[in-house]
Amino acid sequence: MSNKLFQSYKQKPIIDEHYDVICIGSGLGSLCTASILARRGKRVLICEKHTTPGGFTHVFTRNDYEWDVGLHYVGDMDRKGSLVRLAFEHVTDGNLKWADMGEVYDKVIIEDRVYDYHKGLKAWKENMKAYFPTENDARAIDKYVELIFAVNKGAKDFYAKKVMPDFLRMLASPFMNNDYSKYAHQTTKQVLDEISDNDELKAVLSAQFGDYGTPPSKSSFVIHAAVALHYMNGGFYPVGGSEEIFNTIAPSIINAGGTILIGAAVKEIIVENGVAKGVLMQDGKTIKSDIVVSGAGVHITYKHLLSSESKKKIKYLDDALNLPSSYGHLSLYIGLKNTADELNLPKANYWIYPNGTDHDKALENYLQDYNNEFPVVYISFPASKNPNFTDKYPGRSTIEIITVAKYDWFKEWENTRWKKRGEAYDVLKEKLAKRLLEHLYKYEPQIRGKIDTYELSTPITTKHFCNYLQGEIYGLDHQPSRFAKEYLKPQTPIKNLYLTGQDIVTVGIAGALLSGILTASSITKTNIINEMIKQKIQNNNS
Ligand SMILES: Cc1cc2nc3c(=O)[nH]c(=O)nc-3n(C[C@H](O)[C@H](O)[C@H](O)COP(=O)(O)OP(=O)(O)OC[C@H]3O[C@@H](n4cnc5c(N)ncnc54)[C@H](O)[C@@H]3O)c2cc1C
Repeated sequence: MSNKLFQSYKQKPIIDEHYDVICIGSGLGSLCTASILARRGKRVLICEKHTTPGGFTHVFTRNDYEWDVGLHYVGDMDRKGSLVRLAFEHVTDGNLKWADMGEVYDKVIIEDRVYDYHKGLKAWKENMKAYFPTENDARAIDKYVELIFAVNKGAKDFYAKKVMPDFLRMLASPFMNNDYSKYAHQTTKQVLDEISDNDELKAVLSAQFGDYGTPPSKSSFVIHAAVALHYMNGGFYPVGGSEEIFNTIAPSIINAGGTILIGAAVKEIIVENGVAKGVLMQDGKTIKSDIVVSGAGVHITYKHLLSSESKKKIKYLDDALNLPSSYGHLSLYIGLKNTADELNLPKANYWIYPNGTDHDKALENYLQDYNNEFPVVYISFPASKNPNFTDKYPGRSTIEIITVAKYDWFKEWENTRWKKRGEAYDVLKEKLAKRLLEHLYKYEPQIRGKIDTYELSTPITTKHFCNYLQGEIYGLDHQPSRFAKEYLKPQTPIKNLYLTGQDIVTVGIAGALLSGILTASSITKTNIINEMIKQKIQNNNS
């Protein structure tokens, strides 16, 4: 990665005393906000706590391998009129390329029964109906698709309301599409139970719940509908890996006179007379700005980054701090001394459900005791998705396996030093890693004996590197109650303090990208999406 794109705070870089905007955290929400504002002439300072920029889009390298942390696939990249594509083209100046994962993007395995998710609505439906050929099941599949389209149609108004001034939102509410709010209050399970009695079909339809982290009986149907539709036109992977997201967005921020700092933890947001004025860094230095944007998540921002005086301004503080967090996770990062081609690795992600059709029961059972079977094992094959992988790592490939984990299982080691957490921690990790590997060998047996290295991350790793308090995988949990919280929006009660990132929209690369658009729209009081469209038309005509 070119070190011209960021500077290390520890090496005492030259920093101005004042910026137009300071963004806390370098996750995609912050990067997108910063890039849009930079294009409008703002000088933005990004302060990132971690020593690698990008938030969950950062990659890490070890023993000559490289792994993505929080990106395995993104949807909606080749649909005409796709907002995700338009926004990525805008903030990266068209420099980020996406590789198509092909006809099958997700492979669902329930016990040993395999169901492929095919790219494109027509193919997806046809194949699903071939797996479930009865008339009742076909009707349920049609109804399901109809519902996910209806919900997503309503999403536009729901998100537009997040940037409207209060009086306008009240005036506009009766005229807006309310399907989203209606389904936001229902769980995925409630909706699926209404359309089908077939447990196997319902288990297959809800198999992507790991993408948003909340099982069917607890997740709002709108997050399920958003994820299902997002991927229905196929899965895409950034050419060069997920670090290319930062690499292609950062130049727009730097070229406008901005600075991106790593190893730069913000201790407190400076608020004077109810107005955000800058940040106090962990080392005591203050940096001033006209606007502060926090992309560090709702819990971190409201719990740790405001003084007790400033917290008094946040009327919903207790409610916000009590919003449930998503679960933690284990990630197993695997390196192999063969190419993806040599090992015949697939591009599709595997969603393995070893316990059968009841995802909720399987999760509950496992959360009671990690010795019980994993509720879901997700396997991703980045080396086969990234067409440039072997240019950078000749003769090698990588695999990533993810499952759920509780922070509490690892809490006793939270204050130990990374890499030196002690034997008991390493033994527990090894035991869990070995169990995860057996699931991989079952479906890709040629890999047995080919693994060169592997390393397991736990929720305390996530806390250490990405600063999520309970090592949560996706920030706030996606339960119905979350979608009723009108304060989950860019504007805060503190003047000139804004929020961005997954917590104010939803989890995901698309969610974080949209959060950046909403935050920039809120700050500039401009419809940024219209501007992006105009810009695209101009570029096409020139
Ligand atoms: C294992 C995993 C797999 C995923 N897979 C996918 C996928 O395949 N597809 C998909 O669409 N999405 C996926 N996601 C979700 C996606 O990565 C996230 O939703 C998204 O990247 C979150 O972006 P964000 O803007 O909210 O910021 P984050 O990425 O959460 O970044 C926040 C940043 O703020 C920094 N920070 C916090 N506190 C401070 C402070 N005090 N001072 C300075 N900096 C601070 C943190 O260090 C962090 O870098 C995955 C996530 C995980 C964890």
